[in-house]
Amino acid sequence: MSLDARLPLFPVTASVIAGPAGAELAIGGLSLRALAEQFGTPLYIYDQATMDDAVAAYRRSLAAHYAGESGITLAGKAFLCVAAAQWAQRQNLWLDCTGRGELHIAAAAQVERARILVHGVNKSAADLAAAVRQAGVIVVDNLTEITRLADLLDAAPPDARPDLWLRVRPGVAVDTHAYRQTGQEDSKFGMDAGEITQAVRLCLLRGLPLTGLHFHQGSHFHDPAPIGPALERVLDLAEEVQSETGWLPAALCPGGGWGVAYHEDDLPQPSIDEYVAFIAAYLTEGCRQRGLPLPRLQLEPGRSLVARAGVAVYAVGAVKRTPQRRWLLIDGGLADNPRPALYGARYSALPVRLPARPPVDRASLAGPYCESGDILIEELPLPNLTPGELIAIPASGAYHLSMGSNYNGALRPAVVWLHRGEAHLIQRREELDDLIARDIALP
Ligand code: PLP
Repeated sequence: MSLDARLPLFPVTASVIAGPAGAELAIGGLSLRALAEQFGTPLYIYDQATMDDAVAAYRRSLAAHYAGESGITLAGKAFLCVAAAQWAQRQNLWLDCTGRGELHIAAAAQVERARILVHGVNKSAADLAAAVRQAGVIVVDNLTEITRLADLLDAAPPDARPDLWLRVRPGVAVDTHAYRQTGQEDSKFGMDAGEITQAVRLCLLRGLPLTGLHFHQGSHFHDPAPIGPALERVLDLAEEVQSETGWLPAALCPGGGWGVAYHEDDLPQPSIDEYVAFIAAYLTEGCRQRGLPLPRLQLEPGRSLVARAGVAVYAVGAVKRTPQRRWLLIDGGLADNPRPALYGARYSALPVRLPARPPVDRASLAGPYCESGDILIEELPLPNLTPGELIAIPASGAYHLSMGSNYNGALRPAVVWLHRGEAHLIQRREELDDLIARDIALP
């Protein structure tokens, strides 16, 4: 039955409750129908309990498997707004910001400097200046950036200088879509072994606060095995650099990227413990073999903290049949979730009303935008849904809204945060005037 098969894709608080017209889907005890009536559709919902659970799973695993100091950074690129940054701060997470835009959001949420880590390939002068002003750690992507940073750091007060970590390109990617791989030899991200050695020398020469190494091999993978050879290379590099320069990284970050289940075929949910245990064991053994002290292990997950917490609720506008398909035309799509169009991401869904209804046949969910690729779901077994009904797509919390657009004048959806049985609006729905707020009419 699709309800039992699909409910584990939804937030941990998902349930079926009694509604005025029969059973209906609820998150955190709150009816999705009632939330859609109150806030409109398309509507994004984040369930804090699910995010808290994911953090607790990371913490438990780090405590169980790693003897050194450790920490967790939320990769803000997965989903960032003031409320998400506040949640990260309250959970004692660090926050990864890419560029001054995300730093601005972190500042609005009053995230402490010590918890802000800045990423970015080709950071602009404004990005670097903001990072030096606001961050606790800057992850340096390339040699040119070091020279620019050295000048900025020389001018910064000595007690307000962020630490620098170097981004290594390990030459090994994880098994994921090519557009989500970042660790391979020809990736645009990071530095190779020779450049890292040069970077360390440059930092030491300029007296820069260099404290760590970082690598990230890609996003949304289910097999941690490729992290092993990457860690070996990074530890070999650390050993070489130490013998040449005397410098040793106090912190090491193998990035994030652990996957989640988007479709019932992906279940059970990938185990956070399996991922953390793999890294911890490899790192511990690698350090032991080389006689290196255990570095601070900083993990940097995005998707595995926030994806499952998010649910997108859409209204079916029309139902259309072609000889090949049943189309459910819904009121959102490509503009709030570009992932299916970008990398063929595969999703599942449940009707909000009577979610246990058995499927009648397959249906495809398409959005209202002028692109044939605006299809969120292809050929999913679903019951009959009629215009006006609501449909909920699970695992919608990561890389939807942060990659969304105003294509075709789409208004970005409202976002609601659920916590302890209450719903808080954390982002209002865009209004028509938002679409022209930056425009200047010709004279
Ligand atoms: N760290 C870095 C440097 C990244 O580029 C990304 C994603 O692209 C992440 C962490 C987070 O990846 P995920 O959200 O898949 O955990």
